[in-house]
Amino acid sequence: MKKRITLISIIFIILSITIISSATYLGYMQKLVEENIYKNLEELTKQDASNIENKLKEDIRILNSICNEITSNNIKNVKEMFELYHRNAGKYKFTRMAIMQEDGTTITSDGEIVDLSEDIEYFLKNEDIQISRSRKSKVDMQEINIYSQKIKIEDTNFVIMLIVETQEYERLFSTSIYNGDSYEYIITKEGEIIANSANHENTKNIYEDLKNNVNLKSKTNVDKIRENIEENKNGQDSLKILENKYYISYTNINVSNWILLIITPESIIAKESKQILKTSLLISIIIVLGITCISLYIIISNIKKKKELYNLAYIDPITKLGNYYYLLKNGQKLLDNSQNIPKYVIILDIEKFKSFNKHYGHNVGNKLLIQIGKKLDKVLEKHNKVVCRLSNDIFGIVIQTNKEIEKILEEIWKNLSKISIEEEIYAIYPVIGVYKCKDNEEILNAIDKASIAHDTIIGNYNKKYAVFDEKIEDQILEEHQIEEIMEEALEKNEFEVYYQPKIDIKEEKMVSAEALVRWKREGKIISPAKFIPLFEKNRFILKLDLYIYKQVCKDLKRWQKSIKEIENLNVSINISKEHFGNLDFIEKYVEIAEKYKIDTNKIELEITESASINSDINLIEIMKKIKERGFKISLDDFGTGYSSLNMLQDMPIDVIKIDKSFIDKIEDKNEKIDLIKYIVKIAKELNVKTVAEGVENIKQIEYLKNIGCDIVQGYYYSKPLSKIEFEKYIHENNIYSD
Ligand code: C2E
Ligand code: CA
Ligand code: CA
Repeated sequence: MKKRITLISIIFIILSITIISSATYLGYMQKLVEENIYKNLEELTKQDASNIENKLKEDIRILNSICNEITSNNIKNVKEMFELYHRNAGKYKFTRMAIMQEDGTTITSDGEIVDLSEDIEYFLKNEDIQISRSRKSKVDMQEINIYSQKIKIEDTNFVIMLIVETQEYERLFSTSIYNGDSYEYIITKEGEIIANSANHENTKNIYEDLKNNVNLKSKTNVDKIRENIEENKNGQDSLKILENKYYISYTNINVSNWILLIITPESIIAKESKQILKTSLLISIIIVLGITCISLYIIISNIKKKKELYNLAYIDPITKLGNYYYLLKNGQKLLDNSQNIPKYVIILDIEKFKSFNKHYGHNVGNKLLIQIGKKLDKVLEKHNKVVCRLSNDIFGIVIQTNKEIEKILEEIWKNLSKISIEEEIYAIYPVIGVYKCKDNEEILNAIDKASIAHDTIIGNYNKKYAVFDEKIEDQILEEHQIEEIMEEALEKNEFEVYYQPKIDIKEEKMVSAEALVRWKREGKIISPAKFIPLFEKNRFILKLDLYIYKQVCKDLKRWQKSIKEIENLNVSINISKEHFGNLDFIEKYVEIAEKYKIDTNKIELEITESASINSDINLIEIMKKIKERGFKISLDDFGTGYSSLNMLQDMPIDVIKIDKSFIDKIEDKNEKIDLIKYIVKIAKELNVKTVAEGVENIKQIEYLKNIGCDIVQGYYYSKPLSKIEFEKYIHENNIYSD
């Protein structure tokens, strides 16, 4: 919503800017066009005025020269005067010459006599040449103008006149180029019309005429024009007559007192300019539209890009749920809300998802993840929550609910444990950790704690979920402390090998011993149960196993030399499944055995049955490789893992070690006792020896002897012993093995 508003306002701003600049541009263009019109009109007016001026000058010159000749040659005869005119002026376009006598009687060159007595005063008042206003010719009623000059011959005044038809001026008007749509006037300062292109017979005064026609607003313009003309100023202006605009230009015609005035309708003079304006407008519109489109495009693609970036940053492409960063951002928001309803962070993943992927392919794996996302959303539908996929098969949830969290987790577990993909149903095993958040909890901290709870039940198939409690944290703390000192402990030889004898039931003799690590620190012994799982997690076990193996080889070599009874002692050593990721360890183990001159068939490697759960490794292949190098192999903790009879058949093992949990049941008269019987039976079938672990009493021994179990190991005979104790044990019991 907010985005849309910003989008709209951005478009609005861009559009406004473009429209304003277009309008300014158009205004500027209009001004330019108007200036251009005025300039053109001014030039036109000046041009016409100058043409008329030239004609007037020429006409005056001719009159002047005629008069000069008359006076200098002292011509008194009218006839001779006309001859002079014909000689001089005939080729010019004068209509006629006339000579007025003092009484107003006027003779014309074309032989007429007219009476101009009412104009005597005008003709005689001035010594200089005068140019008359337009008047009707008394000869032929044509509109004419008269150039006149008073001359004196022997004390008698004559007025020599050259008559020109007013039309002659009008011929010089260039408004004809406007097809007669423009009007050109020669006027006097008072506005009296001397000549006009339109032949407006009725109009006598231009100012009155204009004032009668123009709109109210333009009347002041007329006054202004009149004022200017009276002050001998040239100028331009515009007027409105009805809806039409007219441009007016006026300029003085020198020589006379006349003014040339041109009135042109805008429609004519601005035709071209209008076109320019129209084009400009069109261009402006195109620019506005173009800019709008471009800005829209940019904004939309920006929004798209932003969304893409957002998705990239916050959305998991597979499930379309939020990702880790989404959980940090929106989970924190949920934790920060002030409602007094409990908030939890849940971390969930799928046991052995890697194997699932490998087995069914990534495509089905991805579909599984999508289904999990959907189911989580569905189960938690009614709660205020954020569901995200954090990585691989790990999901993170922040949820706010009044409902018992245990119930919700049960429901999640139930819904996720069977998932159908394309009509196939897949059984999966969700592992869930949950943490109840405190007030103002940091999301990162909450995720950590939920993860800690989650990690405690990985591989523990008895628990569906784990709720974080502070004890777990203590354990983690302890683990951290151990991790800090383990390397140093190894260097300081704090790890020591203990040996636990294995006894042949029938012979009641020690036939072998299991090497078990002990960590002696500051006088105390730390139990392997505390550090072995941790070392398997952080893979320090690789170093530790090798160290123990070396110690055992060293001990074996010494014993073979010094203790007659056990020169052929067989020792079993635990080897973590963590080694199986890289098979180089086999060569390393062989090398060390060779170094101490120990026959590898004196060494039995104990591999836990649970190593076969991880289907990423092919346990049988690994066992075969180990076997190839001469080692014996025992399958440790048998009965706690998942090896099938088929697998058992293919495993190149020498020994099956029946887990203590089965042996413990012997006293209980539990039905599991039968199971031991079968295990022993099968082992015999497979030609594999059986070792019973954790044998603590005679009852168990008797039972095991009865069912044909080969070897027993347990506190009944001996606890794991330090090297010295073990050597003592051998001497005291005088045991010999072959
Ligand atoms: P495990 O291989 O099953 O070893 C047998 C465990 O049972 C030993 O515990 C031993 O002390 C204990 N045990 C033997 N007889 C009895 C009995 O009669 N009663 C009872 N209650 N316990 C008995 P330990 O030494 O604490 O070792 C625990 C586990 O740690 C071992 O189980 C083994 O998985 C692992 N481990 C020990 N040493 C090493 C080692 O050097 N490398 C590796 N990778 N794992 C080791
Ligand atoms: Ca073992
Ligand atoms: Ca065991």
